[in-house]
Amino acid sequence: MKIIIFIIIACTLFVAWSLCIVGASADEQLEMIYAKDLERKEQREKLSRVIQCDRCGKTYEKNERYQTRGNVEGSVLSGITTITGMGLRDESYDLCDECIGELLDWLRNEQNDEGAEK
Ligand SMILES: [Zn+2]
Repeated sequence: MKIIIFIIIACTLFVAWSLCIVGASADEQLEMIYAKDLERKEQREKLSRVIQCDRCGKTYEKNERYQTRGNVEGSVLSGITTITGMGLRDESYDLCDECIGELLDWLRNEQNDEGAEK
């Protein structure tokens, strides 16, 4: 009788130990899956952060130099959007800080020229 109880206890311990091993390896595999997923997500985010200027082709991560001055205050200019005669947004262009600077210079010169002509 004692030996049967001993065998039952031994079997129970063995089953418990096996479950612990299986659980631990499942945890490990899950961690590996999460790590790979996180790595892929970081790579995707890094790729999606790179912007290419639609005018000069330069790649950059974000615009920093020119502040908005129109309806939107306290933001940074990142490109231009064309609008229809009805005021609907048409096409958007990403511009690097240098190209935005040149566009602003050009606009200021146009305004100055118009003023001189009048
Ligand atoms: Zn550019």
